[in-house]
Amino acid sequence: MSSNKRKLIAGNWKMNGSLAFNEALVTGIHEGLARAIPQCDVAVCPPAPYLQQVRSLLEQGGAVELGAQDLSMHDSGAYTGEVSAAMLRDFAVRYVIVGHSERRSYHGETDTHVAIKVQKALAAGLTPIVCVGETLAQREAGLTEVAVKQQLAAVIHLNGHCISEIVVAYEPVWAIGTGRTASPEQAQEVHAVLRAQLRAASERADRIRILYGGSMNAANAAALLAQPDIDGGLIGGASLKVPDFLSIIAAAG
Ligand code: PGA
Repeated sequence: MSSNKRKLIAGNWKMNGSLAFNEALVTGIHEGLARAIPQCDVAVCPPAPYLQQVRSLLEQGGAVELGAQDLSMHDSGAYTGEVSAAMLRDFAVRYVIVGHSERRSYHGETDTHVAIKVQKALAAGLTPIVCVGETLAQREAGLTEVAVKQQLAAVIHLNGHCISEIVVAYEPVWAIGTGRTASPEQAQEVHAVLRAQLRAASERADRIRILYGGSMNAANAAALLAQPDIDGGLIGGASLKVPDFLSIIAAAG
């Protein structure tokens, strides 16, 4: 079933950027969006030290929202290096990526950690973008559906919060940063599985945006975004290049 909800295009800058780079990037995005008003929601997720800089750049024009790349499972205290949900909230952060495969594989994040982070984000009024996705080995073993359903199941029963408050991002691990994108059909197949799982959990499942992420770029965005259950994109590499990011936003219109 095709949905009429506004798509979301979110740029995940990962550990890239500098004061000068960020300023040029946001200025370029604003200039582009002033020429062609986006028909979708747009967000950028810079590294934590730049949240304040990017927040003030975003306030200077356009409707681009601010996101963060991670948050702590804890509220405050002796957790060196961690950034809490309340701190993100202080900087007008709207979205926070949770459970990105790079956090799962390099920082040992489990489904339990992801579930706690999602709760913390929602309690602080942030919208978590919950990432799920299979590895290449899982795909080749025919375990894609099992893997993504297990990851989504971990966040489906939220204490006191409604599942419809989250955004889901399907990011096949083998497609992230590799230039190897899932075909629109491959992506849609998994999105439909996730949608069915969300429908079984909530009457409001059709309102939940399920983004695709993994080497989405100016050339393949339109075909991916035309799929009935693909409600936007979580963009890594291509979100660091003004023309590419603008093309993806235009494709979501
Ligand atoms: P990519 O990254 O677009 O560079 O593949 C996507 C992501 O990891 O969110």
